[in-house]
Amino acid sequence: MAVLMQWALRYLFPARSSREQREQIIGTFANLRKQIPLLYGVSLVNLVGMHLATNGSHLDWFSPVTVLSFVLLWRMVYWIGFQKPTREFREIRRELVQMAVFTALLCIGFSLWAQSLITQYPEQSLTIILYSLLAALGAAYGLSSFPRAALLPLVILGMPLAIRLFLFDDQSAQGIGISLFLVLILFMWLLQVHSRALSELVSGQLAIARERNRAVAAETHAIKRADEDVLTGLANRGRLVREIRHHLVRGPASGGGSVLAICDLDGFKAANDAFGHAAGDAILKEFADRLTEAFADKALVARLGGDEFSIFWKDGLSGLEIEEVGDRICELAAEPVDWDGKELSVGVSCGLTEAGPFTWSDGEFFRQADSALYKAKESLRGHWHLYDQPQFQADQRRARIEKLILSGDAVDQMHVVFQPIVNVETGQPEYAEALARWDSPDLGVVGPSEFIRIAEKLGVIDRLNECLLGKALSEAADWPSTLSLSFNLSAMQLSRPAAAERIQRVVDAYSQPPDRIQFEVTETVLLTDLGQAERELRKLTDSGFTIALDDFGSGYASVSYLRELSFDTVKLDGSLIDNVLHSERSRQILLGMVDLCHAAGARCVAEHVETYEQFALARSMGCDYAQGFCLGKPTTSAKMLAALDLGSKQTRLPFGHFAKD
Ligand code: C2E
Ligand code: CA
Ligand code: CA
Repeated sequence: MAVLMQWALRYLFPARSSREQREQIIGTFANLRKQIPLLYGVSLVNLVGMHLATNGSHLDWFSPVTVLSFVLLWRMVYWIGFQKPTREFREIRRELVQMAVFTALLCIGFSLWAQSLITQYPEQSLTIILYSLLAALGAAYGLSSFPRAALLPLVILGMPLAIRLFLFDDQSAQGIGISLFLVLILFMWLLQVHSRALSELVSGQLAIARERNRAVAAETHAIKRADEDVLTGLANRGRLVREIRHHLVRGPASGGGSVLAICDLDGFKAANDAFGHAAGDAILKEFADRLTEAFADKALVARLGGDEFSIFWKDGLSGLEIEEVGDRICELAAEPVDWDGKELSVGVSCGLTEAGPFTWSDGEFFRQADSALYKAKESLRGHWHLYDQPQFQADQRRARIEKLILSGDAVDQMHVVFQPIVNVETGQPEYAEALARWDSPDLGVVGPSEFIRIAEKLGVIDRLNECLLGKALSEAADWPSTLSLSFNLSAMQLSRPAAAERIQRVVDAYSQPPDRIQFEVTETVLLTDLGQAERELRKLTDSGFTIALDDFGSGYASVSYLRELSFDTVKLDGSLIDNVLHSERSRQILLGMVDLCHAAGARCVAEHVETYEQFALARSMGCDYAQGFCLGKPTTSAKMLAALDLGSKQTRLPFGHFAKD
């Protein structure tokens, strides 16, 4: 049965592919539904006409004519009223094949009956042939949108009649037979052309549909790509920002708003450098997959770029859930990544924030998560931190400091105080260190450690420190020649090209001789870019300035700096003096450091000397200078000069009587 069906389909719908055949079937059915009743109507009228012509009005209820008429009537009524416009392909196919088979059977029956009537009623031959031909042509016309089926009435019913006419013993009948034969051939040829045109139309439509689908698919793909991170398949920053813009829910101060996490892989750069980019990519992909598996059902997971990822919970999380999420993110990164038989290990630091009343924009939401990440990194790598109220206040303060620094108002509000650096042998202050002070009407007192760091981050430290140097130089202009200025240079400042020239220009403007100016630099200067710092420092020493290495012994103190760069002075970090009274070990370390400085050809300053005992110990251990609260707190130039009463033989230093005469 299936084979027969296949064969019938192949004949009825000649096509290059099954897809094309399917389209033909659907198209044929749609057009044919309206024409089919016409086909049955024509057949019925001709059948009845032929019966009346041969048998008159006599009707036998069980004759083939009556049965056939009822069948045709029923089919006509069925197609007009009952046949549902179905969209189910198998059903459509079955209907069409059924109809073609029914047409073939009908034509065979009609043809045999017509031939037998001609034999029975030779005098009615022409009438019978006329009705039969009208039936054949009517049926073919009714089936014109199903060309292969339309051939059936012509071949089965029309052709035998034409041949029969040709066989008549009458020349005019023979002529009509030939003419009829040719008309039928022409009609069949037209149907063939129609069939081909139909199949080409369908394949053309299919090609257009294919092209349109391809264009739609390409567009969908492009839209997806624009929103997607190519490496990990996660959402990219653009998509995340859009989602946050549309779905951010700001909760009350007690919590409940949308939550954003920003994660930064620790140790990723090291793994990338050690094993190459393929390993780096494997780590990123693996971490992306782990985040997706853990959170993608309730949140949007995105890659912001580099080794930074982000997760956005638009519906928020409970306090407990936030803690669980933070722990989970850290756990996910802690698990090593298998790559090329190796186990690659990284960690993650993560900042989380919850949108609250102060999250006024998506930009602020991002900033808070970023600030929390910064805090997480500051404390301990591999940890998470939730943005909180104190941090918000600190950030607000910081933002106001930044604004005042950038507008130039900060430097106008700043002044410089001075702290003496005393020669431990003579008791005389030989230097005074300039220390910046900012008492802001808006923010209160802002410490130099805080604003110097912010100015460095903002990249405006050169300008700020040059202004401060100017202020210090103008105060120092009144000092006696025995007192020199010691001024702190920032690490950032020295890592810029032509730093020395810029500093020189400021000094020139105040006509101060370079040998009365000392610049203090910390090791961080040297850490940033040793070569650059060395060049700038050498230019300064060549111009006659003296250079002090500040805070030596804190942080990354390296002996190699003392070997490679020549410093006139080394200031030992305050922490080295702190325990010197109570710990033998601290004393030994200080002793060693002093010897080290002397061996490097530098004089040595003990910082943070707060008591007489510390001062005495520093002196006995060979320090050349001392600086600290007990020798003079940072104060204005005028107060310092008054307290020191420079020039008098009897120094009035608080501990002046400890100095040798
Ligand atoms: P620093 O260069 O190490 O300055 C010494 C710091 O120690 C000063 O803090 C000073 O007030 C403090 N100090 C002095 N004697 C004692 C003592 O006996 N005990 C203790 N505990 N502390 C003492 P200050 O003024 O807060 O300055 C902090 C840092 O800010 C400075 O550290 C310096 O690195 C930086 N700084 C200050 N002014 C400037 C400036 O004008 N330019 C630059 N670039 N940095 C500056
Ligand atoms: Ca200093
Ligand atoms: Ca210092």
